[in-house]
Amino acid sequence: MSRVLIIGAGGVAAVTIKKCARLPEHFDEIYLASRTVSKCEALQAEVGADRVKAVYAVDADNAEEVEALINKVKPDLLINLALPYQDLPIMDACLATGTDYLDTANYEPKDEAKFEYSWQWAYQDKFKDKGIMALLGSGFDPGVTNVYTAYAAKHYFDEIHYLDIVDCNGGDHGQAFATNFNPEINIREITQRGRFWEDGQWKETDPLSVREDLDYQNIGVRASYLMFHEELESIVKHFPSLKRARFWMTFGDAYLNHLKVLEGIGMTSIEPIDFQGQKIVPLEFLKAVLPNPGSLAEGYTGMTCIGTYITGVKDGKEKTIFIYNNCDHAACFEEVGAQAVSYTTGVPAMIGAALMLNGTWKGAGVWNMEQFDPDPFMDMLNQHGLPWDVLECEQSPFKR
Ligand code: NDP
Repeated sequence: MSRVLIIGAGGVAAVTIKKCARLPEHFDEIYLASRTVSKCEALQAEVGADRVKAVYAVDADNAEEVEALINKVKPDLLINLALPYQDLPIMDACLATGTDYLDTANYEPKDEAKFEYSWQWAYQDKFKDKGIMALLGSGFDPGVTNVYTAYAAKHYFDEIHYLDIVDCNGGDHGQAFATNFNPEINIREITQRGRFWEDGQWKETDPLSVREDLDYQNIGVRASYLMFHEELESIVKHFPSLKRARFWMTFGDAYLNHLKVLEGIGMTSIEPIDFQGQKIVPLEFLKAVLPNPGSLAEGYTGMTCIGTYITGVKDGKEKTIFIYNNCDHAACFEEVGAQAVSYTTGVPAMIGAALMLNGTWKGAGVWNMEQFDPDPFMDMLNQHGLPWDVLECEQSPFKR
């Protein structure tokens, strides 16, 4: 008998819940909690009370509230699909109750737009001593991109040297400016300085200042910008043979122009300001006026293409491969009423949870995705809506 407690009822959670609900062989009982309980109730009504057994309101910034909820539900696994700010209080509650933990994004303090694994890796000994497991970053990127890297290293190379993760959303939602997942988290991420790994050290670039025009499978050529992304940190740690590791994301001119204006007038700032007698954070206000990412799903056309280019050596010869997935926004909407960015995150969360619950991926401590055998995860991607392909490239599209 397996019982999961999911925290968060946003775009990603809606996909994970629907996918879990269809797999009673992995998830016998599903419980759902979030800040706004009406969103949980709506999801329960959609999926059925026979699958989502009960819903609860919880403030996951408060570890004691989460602990009390865990004691009530007694789940085998807690799936955290709230926001990165809640990672540590939820991990504290898991630690206090001896409960396994999974998330899709690494911890970020609310008052500083900085995300890194140090805070969560610091739980390694405590989780190990307690005999419980935390799986970090089981989304697409991080998540599937880490697993792609491990799969390439296992099956295609003796040693991997160059890694470029590419994330293209070739879709069109018809809005002048909207983000595809939580706007606050998304804008904090892309307005940061760029960072990549080269020759044993991190190097920085001005935000979105390095561009390559890359050709994406089934989409075409798109302007792609170098950014820091969290999986680079763990992948570089676990594959020390890497000489360089970078992350690229596509942005259209209209998106960048909007972002530039919003930044220029201070709307992306996370410094609180006084407004009519109260303190407000401009970025939180901006989030409130932007479209809810979930609302973009209907009528969204086009595809995403996310993958990893890896160059390395096999039998003394250098070669490059590209492992990738194309995900179609309209097909996701038809299947689960979501757009592809929520879908490509929600499905891997379900897969990581299933592998933990059935003991395929197990171990006490805090783990990143690339530390486990990638094969069972790759098989489940094919079975549950995110099929992948491997291309052997004549040469890497990237200069040395
Ligand atoms: P949403 O904003 O749509 O959903 C977040 C949910 O968390 C909402 O239901 C929200 O409640 C709830 N929540 C927020 N704060 C609290 C709190 N203090 N206590 C309880 N619940 C809370 O975000 P997404 O679904 O788009 O993203 C979910 C996660 O997935 C994020 O961490 C995001 O960074 C990550 N992500 C990871 C990706 C990957 O590839 N690895 C890609 C995309 C997203 P309320 O409804 O009240 O606001």
